[in-house]
Amino acid sequence: MDFHNLGLIVVEDHDFQRQVALSFLAQLGVRQVIEAADGREALDKIRGAPWPVDVALCDLDMPGMDGVQFIRHLAEDQLVTSVILQSGLETQLIASVEGMARAHGLTVLGTIEKPVTAQKLYNLLSRYKPSATPRKVQPPAVMPEDIRHGLAENEFVAYYQPKVEFQTLKLAGVEALARWRHKEKGLLMPASFIEVAERSDLIDALTMRMLETAFAQHKAWAERGLVTPMAVNLSLAYLGQTNVADVIFGLATRLGLSPKMITLEVTESLVTTNLTYVLENLARLRMRGFGISIDDYGTGFSSMQQLSRIPFTELKIDQSFVTGATNRPNLRVILESSLQLAHKLGLRAVAEGIEKDEEWALLKSLDCDVAQGYFIARPMPGEAVPDWNTTWSAQK
Ligand code: C2E
Ligand code: MG
Ligand code: MG
Repeated sequence: MDFHNLGLIVVEDHDFQRQVALSFLAQLGVRQVIEAADGREALDKIRGAPWPVDVALCDLDMPGMDGVQFIRHLAEDQLVTSVILQSGLETQLIASVEGMARAHGLTVLGTIEKPVTAQKLYNLLSRYKPSATPRKVQPPAVMPEDIRHGLAENEFVAYYQPKVEFQTLKLAGVEALARWRHKEKGLLMPASFIEVAERSDLIDALTMRMLETAFAQHKAWAERGLVTPMAVNLSLAYLGQTNVADVIFGLATRLGLSPKMITLEVTESLVTTNLTYVLENLARLRMRGFGISIDDYGTGFSSMQQLSRIPFTELKIDQSFVTGATNRPNLRVILESSLQLAHKLGLRAVAEGIEKDEEWALLKSLDCDVAQGYFIARPMPGEAVPDWNTTWSAQK
């Protein structure tokens, strides 16, 4: 059997045992191997590997993220197709971990009882069959390591996009949007890093950075006489964790900010998430007085069912409906009924991505409450907002 094109990762916290496994793999002719000392490092490295990782050779008993959690992440994010477990644990426990891995759709090639030998490795690797289903993950434009570095170097900032009321034209609030001032690549947009962050647990640190930045900016504007509601985006991947509500409330309290001034926009995430925790967090945030907005309404997550289960206060109509509605009667019907739905549920309706005056006119005629889009203003650095508001107020 020829292992030349097989991609492998060895996850083992014990340096010596890892080196032993690597040298056996080299003997067997495996050429594409990466190594990691714990689960978190392993996930990052698989995502950044220059070739597909087919098999994870995984110790179960590791500090930090243990082998069981690691396997769940591997499966949920479809990072590899096959695993070999290695462990000194009791057989009953190993059997249940194997069962769990299979239930997640992974192929378990087998378990190696320590010590690892070249023969044991050969036997199990020979069972590997290339999977028919391709893996979901392609090498991302940025690596989790880059994001971690960017966070440490304070390269993530917020831009703010104003929203205005259709009726009065008054400033209705601003939305904080993440930007990355990358040393080499320039200003990066969220599309190039949010998903990578969601897949690597860095979404926590990134979200915290955004919340802190936006809350601090709110205070800075207030000191210049501008008090306006602030919206921050929270992805489902972040909201699907325990105690997120406490963290956000704690932060607002620490900065002396009233939750009434803050709207949390729930954005969809491609990473599977625990919906029970999402519902719990959102309910608790709402009880504390935060506004809760359903972002990109009309796409993905924002189904009717979610609307009835989550205590939303605002509905943001996705740009695709706004753009399409002026020339496609079907989309106009959907737009109209979405707005009616929002109002019947007592939600404030915000239209995203208004670029043209006919879009403005249509949404206004349909009784939409708030407008956001390049037609009003593009996202801008925080310092620019008070001056923008002065100019805008003078013009209208
Ligand atoms: P979103 O929350 O729906 O934000 C609106 C997006 O539409 C922003 O893109 C904004 O710049 C863009 N936009 C606004 N008006 C117009 C317009 O008239 N025309 C066009 N073509 N675009 C317009 P951006 O900043 O690239 O953000 C994209 C998405 O990334 C956001 O969509 C949001 O889902 C996500 N995102 C941004 N910041 C964060 C963050 O801090 N955390 C999380 N989890 N997601 C974020
Ligand atoms: Mg948003
Ligand atoms: Mg949106």
